[in-house]
This record gives sequence, C-alpha cells and structure tokens, in this order.
Amino acid sequence: CGIVCYKGNLNARNVIVEGLERLEYRGYDSAGISLIKDGKLSTVKKSGKVKVLKDELEKNPIEGNLGIGHIRWATHGGPSDINSHPHLSNDGKIAVVHNGIIENYNELKEGLKKEGYTFKSDTDTEVVAVLIEKYYDGDLLEAVKKARLDLRGSYALGIISENEDDRLIVLREESPLVLGLTESGILAASDLPSIIKYTKDVIYLDNGDLVDINGDKYTIYNRDNEEIEREISKVTFSF
Ligand code: GLU
Repeated sequence: CGIVCYKGNLNARNVIVEGLERLEYRGYDSAGISLIKDGKLSTVKKSGKVKVLKDELEKNPIEGNLGIGHIRWATHGGPSDINSHPHLSNDGKIAVVHNGIIENYNELKEGLKKEGYTFKSDTDTEVVAVLIEKYYDGDLLEAVKKARLDLRGSYALGIISENEDDRLIVLREESPLVLGLTESGILAASDLPSIIKYTKDVIYLDNGDLVDINGDKYTIYNRDNEEIEREISKVTFSF
C-alpha cells in the first residue's frame, strides 16, 4: 500500500503509474489514479494489480501534469472498484489518496451525514475528501489545515482539486512520506523506489508535516502550521 503524487511538466500518468509499480513490494489489492488537466479532474481506479489499472488506462486514457495515485491494502471496506482510491468529495472536485487508518472515521462520517453529505464507499478515507469539501471556502490549503484537526489515526495523504489546478497538497502522520525534488517537478511518495529514477534530492518529511506545492514553489508547515525548512538529503544508493 502506498501513495505517489506528482506535479511538474512531465506526463503525470506515466510518472505515477511507474511509481506505483515500484511500490508493489509493499503489498496491495487495488490501484487508482486521478489527474487534472485544463481544470478538469479525471479518475480511474480498479481492484486488482497495477497491470489492471494500466489496461483500463489504455481504454480510457486520462492525461495531466498534476496527479495522485494509490495502491491499496484494504483496512476499512473490502477490495472493490468503489473502495479503491482516489476518493472524491460529493461535488466530485476534490480527490484524495490515503495510506493509513483514520481511527475516528465513523464518528466523522455520522456527523457529515447529519449535515447532508453522502458516501459511496465503505472506506475510512472517503471522510477526508468530504471533510475538505465541507471546509473549502476558496483556499484548498486552509480547508486541508482545518480538516486535519479533525483526523485521528495514521495517514500519508495526497490531495488535489479542480478548483485549484496548479496545486498539490501532501501531509503525513505516522505513515511514511518522502518528497523528491526534480528538475521537472516535485514527487511525493510513500517510499524512495518511486522517486529515485527522477532525482537523488529528497526530503524525509516528519510527522505532522504538510507540504503545499503551488505553482513551482513548495512550502512545508509543521503540525502547528508554522512554516519550516527541512533538510534536503542526497540518496547515495540505488535499487
Ligand atoms: N484505510 C484505507 C482503506 O482501507 C487505506 C488503506 C491503505 O493504506 O492502503 O482504504
């Protein structure tokens, strides 16, 4: 299980699908990807191997320079196309991939249902997409900062929205997440194999870190939402 997110000027579909293949060793039951192109979000997700996702992408090609991808090890809700990630907000504009477990998802889900939101899947992850939608008021970063205050558990999250099609937000708590700084964009992934083809310059994010990748800049915030610097490390080995 794991996430791979990319924003840059390469074909995000290729970078992400290849990144997911390089995470296959972690074990998984489903795979999926969302991309944004010209302000439009498209998602393809399937239970089964990354090969199944690739075949589906051949039939239903989606493109973009910004996207998020996932291989899933089901913890909440069995393996199925619907329970596969990315999960979308009710308005279909926000997409989320998640590695980990949202422990208080049931309580959050019940509260959101009372406010009129609906759910398609049995996963803990879908509440994250819907929570961000609830808090969204024109600024994705602010919405994610609010939503994370409600979340208990472990997560590496990748978030995109067609409302802000030049932005990728990633954050982590207890699940691994590494940034790769390349000449043609930024990668964020659960582990190095998805990154090192493109760069040796990486940032190992700390618990509570949130990265706002907006335009070609990135800003890292800690759990208290203070802007911080993290050291850039050189990967000295190859796989
Ligand atoms: N808890 C989430 C789910 O069951 C994510 C699992 C994972 O880390 O792959 O969908």
